[in-house]
Amino acid sequence: MLRPPRGPTRAPAPGAGTTGAHLGCARADLAPPAVTEGSRRSSDDRSALAWLASHPGQTVLFTDFDGTLSRIVARPELARPLPGSAEALSRLARHLFAVGVVSGRPAAWLSEELAITPEATGGEGSAHRGGGIEIYGQHGIEHLTPGGIVVAEGALSWRSALARVRASALEAGIPDLEVEDKTYGVTLHWRQAADQVETAGRAEELARQQAAATGLVARPGKASIELVAPIGVDKGTVVRRWAAKCGVERIAFFGDDESDVAAFAAIDEITGTGRDDGGGAIGQQKIAGLKIAGLKIAVGGPEAPGELLRRADLVLATPEEAVRLLMELAEQLDSPGSGAP
Ligand SMILES: [Mg+2]
Repeated sequence: MLRPPRGPTRAPAPGAGTTGAHLGCARADLAPPAVTEGSRRSSDDRSALAWLASHPGQTVLFTDFDGTLSRIVARPELARPLPGSAEALSRLARHLFAVGVVSGRPAAWLSEELAITPEATGGEGSAHRGGGIEIYGQHGIEHLTPGGIVVAEGALSWRSALARVRASALEAGIPDLEVEDKTYGVTLHWRQAADQVETAGRAEELARQQAAATGLVARPGKASIELVAPIGVDKGTVVRRWAAKCGVERIAFFGDDESDVAAFAAIDEITGTGRDDGGGAIGQQKIAGLKIAGLKIAVGGPEAPGELLRRADLVLATPEEAVRLLMELAEQLDSPGSGAP
């Protein structure tokens, strides 16, 4: 089973994570990204690599965990980072403005699996090239810092509702359903179910009922659905927070699932490249005054959400390809003659 979170929790520092906190900082004009939206050519990973390597000190790079740094596995607790993924993050942290993981997993679990200690993180409010790695758990509700896990405002008050949902899910007796307690979310998994359609249908109905009864938000995922605190925090929140930091001019995000659409949508909003197709999350107000370029890298496959693939600038076939791209970027930036500013 999953290990319980470690470390103290505390409220965010006043003003921490406020979007637009540094809107007054000067930013250089940016050339358009070398990779254009909608392109799918096999040579595009070379273009993405060149783009990522060209201005490392102004670049923020975030990635999901499951499906990008690890394979999708039958049981969620069995997922492990692919070889080289933690090393690539550590090496990239020495060059990029910031690098990190934004996942639906608990921050403590990510910390342990990736062997990234709280002391190795950048810390709340950091604007650094100091080698720290950012770890955001539970879709951005948790942020691992040297002082412990900072929990988004408002999340704590939903823990009792989540505990009731977890108990109801266990009592429901849905065949082969796995109930994952993530402290600030409860995920119902059916990847191992003998009858996927039956178990998925009952789990989704249970999630709908529980969402209606408690006010929690139901979010679909790969062979799963999650109930989370309705506090307006998702992976897009993390993207917007970092986009607002002085000195950030480029944001890249690697994702594979529904929850990553929020990060891609945030990049589209910030860079002004999003399509307004009536989807609700698209075409919202842009962050005024920012000149930021973005790169959205999806890991595809039969379970990849259509909207994620539509928004992606580059689609990779497997998480192994994603880790290879990260490692190649690290090698390029580590090489003395890379010429990166
Ligand atoms: Mg994922």
